[in-house]
Amino acid sequence: MLKGIAASAGVSVAKVYKLETPEVVIVKKTVEDVDAEVAKFEAALEKTKKDIEGVKERAAKRLKPEELEVFDAHLMMAGDPDLHDQVVASIKNDSVNAEYAVDTYASTAIAIFETLGDYFKERIADVKDVTFRLKCNLLGVMIPDLTSIDEPSVIVAHDLTPSDTAQLNEWVKGFCTEIGGKTSHSAIMANSLEIPAVVGCTGILAAAKTGDVIALDALDGEIVLNPDEATIAAYNAKAVAFAEEREALKVLKDAKSITTDGHEVELAGNIGGYADVEGVLKNGGEGVGLFRTEFLYMGAKDWPTEEEQFQAYKQVLEGMGGKKVVVRTLDIGGDKHLDYYDFPQEMNPFLGYRAIRLCLDQKDIFRTQLRALLRASVYGKLCIMFPMIATVQEFCDAKAIVKEEEAKLIAEGVAVSPDYQVGMMVEIPAAAVLAEQFSKYADFFSIGTNDLIQYSMACDRMSQKVSYLYQPWNPSILRLIKMTIEGAHKNGKWAGMCGAMAGEPKAVPILLGLGLDEFSMSATQILNARKQVTNISFEKAQELAAKCIEQDTADQVLDLVAEYIK
Ligand code: PEP
Ligand code: MG
Repeated sequence: MLKGIAASAGVSVAKVYKLETPEVVIVKKTVEDVDAEVAKFEAALEKTKKDIEGVKERAAKRLKPEELEVFDAHLMMAGDPDLHDQVVASIKNDSVNAEYAVDTYASTAIAIFETLGDYFKERIADVKDVTFRLKCNLLGVMIPDLTSIDEPSVIVAHDLTPSDTAQLNEWVKGFCTEIGGKTSHSAIMANSLEIPAVVGCTGILAAAKTGDVIALDALDGEIVLNPDEATIAAYNAKAVAFAEEREALKVLKDAKSITTDGHEVELAGNIGGYADVEGVLKNGGEGVGLFRTEFLYMGAKDWPTEEEQFQAYKQVLEGMGGKKVVVRTLDIGGDKHLDYYDFPQEMNPFLGYRAIRLCLDQKDIFRTQLRALLRASVYGKLCIMFPMIATVQEFCDAKAIVKEEEAKLIAEGVAVSPDYQVGMMVEIPAAAVLAEQFSKYADFFSIGTNDLIQYSMACDRMSQKVSYLYQPWNPSILRLIKMTIEGAHKNGKWAGMCGAMAGEPKAVPILLGLGLDEFSMSATQILNARKQVTNISFEKAQELAAKCIEQDTADQVLDLVAEYIK
């Protein structure tokens, strides 16, 4: 048995399809006829573009439009004049072979992206993906075609690239990779496609070969190769139980999120755009608790116009059919950059010029977004939320701008809903501590634990080295959450949470007991959370929460929860 990280839930028993990425050895050669070499390169580049278009076309049958964006990025990269010109220049100037010139170009580009930090990880993956295809085409090496899989299979690979995952068809019953973690691209894609996946399974490549039988348990992160009859039966039984559980959860789609003793909460979904609305509704979401509007900006070539934004917000509000939609105003900076804006160089961008700080400084950008939101407000139930609020003054300044824009729109004869709400994220400890004061001004809070934890523990949420400090269950974090909720309730306001903690099965009972009113999470987590909420009494959850905040360590809290869940 091999162990790995369970990255996308499910259990499968199927044949191994070992994805053997061809080894491409690049040797530097001197070429006599540089023009012929340039022609060879240009033909391979054209073929690469065609190949990517072909993969995109096949993937479009299964993936959502935004999941196809990776191919647009690849096409853009393959069509980048810089790639063409630099490779041609090095063939011509140095009389080197095309594959060597491409390889050199790739190494330089990767080295540059690596100095730019974690945010560029995806770009690095894209460069590798595109230049690998290009080198294979130059050398006449075949790239395995995953779309040709036509029997139930589990893919075993070193890692899956974005274009690999996009090619998975209905015969793929799971995959297992040698490297990777819960948040790697392949894991995210597996979740979206509901394919069981175990990643970071050291040794799987050496152990498995195509045609072996593999039992993949992506609930506990366990793999058995060529299992005996009894093991196959056990894994099949687990697969059936899991499928039944998934089916049973569907019954809860239209149920209320109410505890056994009648305490009702709201379970909502986090979205990045209109494409995610269907998933939230399909999974029984009672609203959108976080619409991350930065994707509208990050996907654009220039600042999105008021009209573009208006259409995007209207579409989401209408799509949710009158259910509450919390739209977060621009949260850019930190690790989120824009191609068309130069952020100032700062030592600590996460603590720097970002989110509401930038919006209050560059008010035109902010006003454009607010006007679009206010105009869209008549198409549904809108809640406007400011990110990264640290002081009451910031909140009041931001809210005043909303009111100014509302007055201007009304004077222009444009309709604005009379009952939209204006609230804030609580993701800076200062705001949590002062929640009682903030709630005099804000209509609601949504706790952003992803940032709240990193700022409270002084631990970069992207750093592997200090990830041991990233402790959602640390009693200090629970106390900040408690303060926030109580602060909201003091002034009759509601408190939600849209950080990843809200959907964690081990956090739901505690958060419920602390009095959280709204939980916003990935769409696929909603039904499970509803099952938890409907199986618990509020009284019991309160008892658990009260004990948890008295503990000394995160581990002690987790032990209490484990005991409780059992
Ligand atoms: C958070 O900080 O918890 C949050 C939801 O925002 P983001 O992850 O976008 O920073
Ligand atoms: Mg945040």
